[in-house]
Amino acid sequence: MIPLADLHSHLYGAIRFEPFLKHLLRQPAIDWSDYRRAYQQAFDRDPDPAALLRRLRRGDRQAVEELRRLFVFGDADAPGFARFQAKFDLLIAASALSRLRTGDAQPIDLAREIHFFVREILRDHARQGIGYAEFRMILPGRHAAALAAPVLRLLVTNLRRGAALGVRARLAVSLPRDSPWEAWEVVRQALRNGAGAVITAVDFCAAEEGHPPRAQREFAAALRAHNLAHPEAALALLYHVGESFGDKSLESAVRWVHEAAEMGAHRLGHALALGLDPALFGPHQRRESAAERIDQLRYDLRHAAALARHGVIVDRVAATREIARLQAGDPAAS
Ligand SMILES: [Zn+2]
Repeated sequence: MIPLADLHSHLYGAIRFEPFLKHLLRQPAIDWSDYRRAYQQAFDRDPDPAALLRRLRRGDRQAVEELRRLFVFGDADAPGFARFQAKFDLLIAASALSRLRTGDAQPIDLAREIHFFVREILRDHARQGIGYAEFRMILPGRHAAALAAPVLRLLVTNLRRGAALGVRARLAVSLPRDSPWEAWEVVRQALRNGAGAVITAVDFCAAEEGHPPRAQREFAAALRAHNLAHPEAALALLYHVGESFGDKSLESAVRWVHEAAEMGAHRLGHALALGLDPALFGPHQRRESAAERIDQLRYDLRHAAALARHGVIVDRVAATREIARLQAGDPAAS
């Protein structure tokens, strides 16, 4: 038995700089305004990729290196999800996935893009001797639901090509946290059309703040029902949680991981909240909504006996009193 590891690969996170640059140079003018605004906000610096591309086209090698630094992630890009997203938006802005929405790209551009990027990624994997790879990719949500079905079809078709390279490429479909249902219907339709050999799982990713695991309980139940009814096309539930938790206490961040596991997630993404020594954060203040604090106190009460066995004593009277006080106020207040 060969030991297995979940390599946790996001398809568009597996694009190297060179293919990205090739893709970029093939695009007509790109509207960088959203990207520049988000980047400026997160890094306090204006990246201006259009100016870099103009220098690059004039043969300025330094511009290639500057563009590479904008694209490739490094320690200097930490911390926080906002900075990650601002940086990743470079690829998003250049992708037909977002340009289709504004009319700056045609469906054929999307087909070419996915074909090109998936081919490059599969070749990378083949070169490294990786025989099995599961990629996560988020489907467009409510604002672009009509794109979800064609995107999924393109992903499945192109990942199947991995077989010719000796790579069994599989897909974990990431669903939008704020509205998983439309995308889930698209996944179910794809399964009915025979995509079950490629699609292994559904996933929840991207910013988790504002999306407590309890909000996906109904979805998790629907997935369980699907798996019982269609064991031949059963899917695992993958769940990014405890990865970014700027909006709540450390206790709540740990609880979210536990709640995601209790909800039936088969694999948890990152779950950093479990692995960081709280002392690392040093003395500081954190805020969370009253609703979140109530959830935490109820959790403490529910698990008081088990927590006590590990040396954490819950003051039941104080917790109960605090719940009553919070319930009398505004649940959204923090
Ligand atoms: Zn991830």
